[in-house]
Amino acid sequence: MSEQKLDINELKKGGMVPLREKDMFSIWVKTECCNLNSKQLRKVADITDKYARGSLLFTSRQIPIVPFVNIRDVFTVKSELAEVGVGMDHNGPIVRNLNICYDDKTCADAVINCIPLGEKLEKFFGSQLAHKIKIGVAGCSKDCVMSRVLNDISFVGVEYNKKKSYEAYAGGRLGVNPFVGIKMAEQLTEDACVNLTQNYFDLLAAEGKKGERAADVINRLGLDEFKAKITRDLGRNATLPAVHFSSASEKQHKVKQVLKIRAVCGEVTTEQVRKIADIAEKYGNGIIHFAVRGAPEIPGVIAKSIPVIIKELAAVNMALIEDNVENFQSCFGGYCSEGLCDPQALLKRIEKRIQELDPGEINITVSGAGCPSSCGIAHLSDIGFHGVMIPVVDSAICTGCGTCVAACKRKTIQVKDKKAVIEMKNCAFCGACRSACPQKAITSKRQGIAVLLGGRGEPGTTLGVKITEFVSEDEAFRITDNLLQLIKKNGLNTRQLIDKMGFDDVKRTILFKPVK
Ligand code: SF4
Ligand code: SF4
Ligand code: SF4
Repeated sequence: MSEQKLDINELKKGGMVPLREKDMFSIWVKTECCNLNSKQLRKVADITDKYARGSLLFTSRQIPIVPFVNIRDVFTVKSELAEVGVGMDHNGPIVRNLNICYDDKTCADAVINCIPLGEKLEKFFGSQLAHKIKIGVAGCSKDCVMSRVLNDISFVGVEYNKKKSYEAYAGGRLGVNPFVGIKMAEQLTEDACVNLTQNYFDLLAAEGKKGERAADVINRLGLDEFKAKITRDLGRNATLPAVHFSSASEKQHKVKQVLKIRAVCGEVTTEQVRKIADIAEKYGNGIIHFAVRGAPEIPGVIAKSIPVIIKELAAVNMALIEDNVENFQSCFGGYCSEGLCDPQALLKRIEKRIQELDPGEINITVSGAGCPSSCGIAHLSDIGFHGVMIPVVDSAICTGCGTCVAACKRKTIQVKDKKAVIEMKNCAFCGACRSACPQKAITSKRQGIAVLLGGRGEPGTTLGVKITEFVSEDEAFRITDNLLQLIKKNGLNTRQLIDKMGFDDVKRTILFKPVK
């Protein structure tokens, strides 16, 4: 089957997303409350061996992605997944897989069991509106799934005066215009959360504009009007029936714990995937959870099994996350059609360097993305990276069609005298115009990596600030090495360093001087 005969936008909505390499797609596997069972995960491994290239990626959307499936096989893969009850996630203007953490029987920190709310919100999955919509739920304000910044609508479990309820946030997103979700309402019941979500969908259906995320609607309508519209009549009965999540825990796991397995850049081979499935079956409750930083997690494990699990993981070159160096998250920028750099290659070098330096108990987070869309949550780590490019229009080729104008989220392109003109002052160097141009009239004048410092996903959210851009991979590595050495020398994590030295001083030190 040829790519030309298929509607790429429809394929994307169905979770089949084209890669840079001709005829190659990534398959976005749907998870149920961000879990798969061991049988389902093995099936994903079998499919990856049969139709792809032997490795897959655990992403910040809390799903596995199988890259490099040939276009002729994408529908076969879809139907083979369906044999074990696994569907496809979505891409494009449609509601994505729900971001969610654990029930209160599995996570000791949870103040509320967020799974029943997730089961109710699951009914919105796949709804088609003017633009993509992300929804998230966290069981406590630690917000391990970074729901407030990754999702248009999110709910966080809280306890006031021994009464459990939810706070609602709206507007979260990364990308070229990042936005941290704003609190919309508090002390909400599950039904009130569902009603708030429904109100948001009604608002989009009535007056949403193409390409708008919640943050754009807030900016357009103003916070007060937006808030009034999505919080109206929250006390009514919610009408949507819940979807049952079979992987939610029935029993309290008092003596059991969640094991986190390191998977640098979220990349895992099929051999490793099968081992993870085996361990979940043998020592856990048969469930594998996909965490937002790309580390596979196995809930329900008894502590005395851990030494043998460590040995079993070592046999496939894997290890538990036992220190405070968080899993390195990355998108698949190295082969994504939008990728402007290879974040996986850079992050793997940094991971080795951290092992050499051995920072002890200091908390470190690192992440990278191939472009400013930041699917690899580049904005939410101590140090993060994303690719950048300077676009240039070849007016001899440009037809003035205006496709790039619509694609530019910074609204920085105009068509004048039938030619596209870019106002560089407001350009985010994202490359979306280049990807969108049907004539290939936009090329990259310069390409490189942007470095972001001081981001934080959980707990609390701070967006990393860009400290330099258009650097090479070697330069980005050197800057990171300087930060790591500064961390080690002072015995402080990045946040503490910034508090002590000031942001500008940390920035100057890691950009310009080798740390002695
Ligand atoms: S951040 Fe960019 S390169 Fe990475 S997956 Fe998203 S669109 Fe592709
Ligand atoms: S002009 Fe192109 S590169 Fe610049 S922000 Fe717009 S789409 Fe991105
Ligand atoms: S999309 Fe390409 S051809 Fe169309 S106006 Fe933009 S640069 Fe010109």
